[in-house]
Amino acid sequence: MLSLRDRRIADKIVDKIKSLGMGMKIMHVCGTHQDTVVKHGLDTLLLKLGIEVREGPGCPVCVTTTREIEEALYLARKGKTVAVFGDMLRAPGERDSLATIRAKGGRVRVVYSVDDAVKYAKEKKEDIVFFGVGFETTAPSVAATILDSPPDNFSVLSVHKLTPPATEAVLALGEIELNGVIDPGHVSTVIGWKEWEPISKKFKIPQVVAGFEPLDVLMAVYMIGRQISEGRAEVEVEYSRAVKEYGNERAKRIMYEVFEKKTGEWRGLGRVEESSLSIRKKYEDWDARKKYEDVLAEIADREYKDPPGCRCGDVIRGAIYPYECPLFGRTCTPSHPVGPCMVSYEGGCAIEYKYHRMERAKKCVV
Ligand code: SF4
Repeated sequence: MLSLRDRRIADKIVDKIKSLGMGMKIMHVCGTHQDTVVKHGLDTLLLKLGIEVREGPGCPVCVTTTREIEEALYLARKGKTVAVFGDMLRAPGERDSLATIRAKGGRVRVVYSVDDAVKYAKEKKEDIVFFGVGFETTAPSVAATILDSPPDNFSVLSVHKLTPPATEAVLALGEIELNGVIDPGHVSTVIGWKEWEPISKKFKIPQVVAGFEPLDVLMAVYMIGRQISEGRAEVEVEYSRAVKEYGNERAKRIMYEVFEKKTGEWRGLGRVEESSLSIRKKYEDWDARKKYEDVLAEIADREYKDPPGCRCGDVIRGAIYPYECPLFGRTCTPSHPVGPCMVSYEGGCAIEYKYHRMERAKKCVV
């Protein structure tokens, strides 16, 4: 059976990449890809061939804005129970995180799924607000839960976001000259590879939908290089064992029955058209923004500042490597995170710290 970590096959793919004889800058938009790239030393290996692989806006916790985090914090301060995935718990708002609110006696409950939050709502009489963070992979299950008519004391604060518009926003900025994009395999199992096609057409850039094992990523790099050498700019699928042209039609139908696309805010990118998922009017009984409209109106006009010195926005756009942030590993560590990229297991800074500690940060003049 083929192992997707087979060293001999990896060497053969690397030889094929070398044979292309070209340097490239490639972005991926997925925290799991970043973990594979750094954990297996692919970034170092490829850099020796003149190939840079950078993480873009691929970590859901990292791209959630301070304003969105503050909305969840405010609801918790106002006595609602905020149900949240564990990796969002410590994401910092302006002064607090949901973890510090909980330490001060606020009602914050860590859940492993949206179903957990519904179960809790059925057991308790409290108002439960599920903080709906995530991309196209998590939004369908939240939508399915809403279609299942959860109890009246349950609602969703949706900060769900869509990855293709954010990828397009990074390319439109042109901050770094990219030669190719590795598209996220799991998102593509839902949306389908066809969804990425307009990006290749608009920016004339090769894309490869890839899986998450080291051989998947190396193969994706080779396929991007091969497209460049052949003068092509299209979407190819390396992760063909899971990704179809139009993805999971049922999941998409459920997702868009409940949610509609709206202009959304992204940390590091600002407003991006049609990039967030908002609950449709038909299901507003479970929309925390509608249900607690009056409460949230109290903070609607506030200006929020990101943590001083934090360069999460630059990391999210791939403009800098995590270790280039002056706070990295100094004032910002996983036990004392300054920005969300150091909190989530999908965040570029947390991944860098986990596998390299200060090794690369020390060599970096900031
Ligand atoms: S090291 Fe910390 S402060 Fe700097 S970008 Fe990363 S998370 Fe933000």
